[in-house]
Amino acid sequence: MKKFFINTYGCQMNVHESEKLAGILYNRGYVAAKSNEDADIIILNTCCIRETAETRVLGNLGMIKKLKEKKPDLIVGICGCMPQKEGTAEYLRRRCPFIDIIIGTHNMHLFSQYLDEALAKRKVLDIWDSEGTIECSPIRRNSSVSAFVNIMYGCDNFCSYCIVPYVRGRERSRNFDEVVAEVRALVESGYKEITLLGQNVNSFMGGKPYFSKLLRALSVFDGEYRIKFMTSHPKDLSEDVVEAMASSDKLADYIHLPVQSGSDRILKLMNRKYTVKDYLSKIDLLRSYIPSIGISSDLMVGFPTETEEDYMCSERLIERVKYNNLFTFIYSRRSGTVADKMDGQIDLAEKTKRIERLIAKQFEIGNTLAQSYIGTTFRVLCDSFDGKTCFGKSSCDKSISFPGDQSNVGQFVNVKVTMAKNNKLIGEIV
Ligand code: SF4
Repeated sequence: MKKFFINTYGCQMNVHESEKLAGILYNRGYVAAKSNEDADIIILNTCCIRETAETRVLGNLGMIKKLKEKKPDLIVGICGCMPQKEGTAEYLRRRCPFIDIIIGTHNMHLFSQYLDEALAKRKVLDIWDSEGTIECSPIRRNSSVSAFVNIMYGCDNFCSYCIVPYVRGRERSRNFDEVVAEVRALVESGYKEITLLGQNVNSFMGGKPYFSKLLRALSVFDGEYRIKFMTSHPKDLSEDVVEAMASSDKLADYIHLPVQSGSDRILKLMNRKYTVKDYLSKIDLLRSYIPSIGISSDLMVGFPTETEEDYMCSERLIERVKYNNLFTFIYSRRSGTVADKMDGQIDLAEKTKRIERLIAKQFEIGNTLAQSYIGTTFRVLCDSFDGKTCFGKSSCDKSISFPGDQSNVGQFVNVKVTMAKNNKLIGEIV
């Protein structure tokens, strides 16, 4: 039986795209290999949003070249947003002639056709323009408990550091009824947690009121399940969405609301279109409706011209908000973006010092929060068991481990937190 291996880089959006590629390949009779070495088809589903993911792709191509030398019939495909970056597809074709298929994000649903071309020993290079239509393809999901559902693609926001609008195109939403039907089918087939995906879900179908209508439409199915979504742009999070979240226990008490910086001056340079005051008013709004809400965020250090005082504004902001979880990043230059051309790029050593301080600060905050949960009982969806311990998440997205067995996987259980260690919650079923 022929085998495939998909190397996935980047965010959950890409993880889900890989599930779609796997669906296409399973439909053709291929099965998943355990590693690149074991595969007849190797796919690199790439991401160019952060420099680190791009560097890893280029590093892995060296190893794959050697595999192809040993196994000339091996098919190598590269897809995702990296080939859509200006000049990259041509560069890959010149520098890596062993790649058989080079495509972007907009035409992955046609992978079966491209594979036929490659099997006939014809090279494929097909990068559609970024306004391509949205097509559905079969999906081979990685989990039988949690599922991703794309509701929109692309982004219109043009944050000055971000390459997404250039490589993933303008915002395009899926049809409302099709999203509802997909989620209904997932719930009916036993999925317990569904995460709606989009670069800015609040502007689904053009924005208010459609996203809150969608959330309400997805919270009426029978049975216990949980709907989450990501990502929300703070400027577009509206009260009707918060009201909808508070109106149903099927909508998770959790939001990922990326702030990026605690300095108004830097937020302006980032073209984020909100101030710290605007952002904090959204946090207060969320907590006024859902006091126990879990909030996570993205925060970047070392944006061009960021001073020590700008950095301290970010530290003060995380102290004020007390995030459940904070994803911290060092600003990295992305060619083609506005920020890449800005003066005042910060030295890597300084950026590294700032991120270390930020991580330490968040660790302290997270630890205090974790200690405060001792004695609290959470409704936890168990998503895995490692042979000794069960792992799961609360509605507010706290990760909790507890003693259990395989039969707990895919079930909701009440877990009382008995201990907090290094930001991690440990509990027992009650
Ligand atoms: S909202 Fe900004 S950071 Fe997020 S994808 Fe769009 S441009 Fe990039």
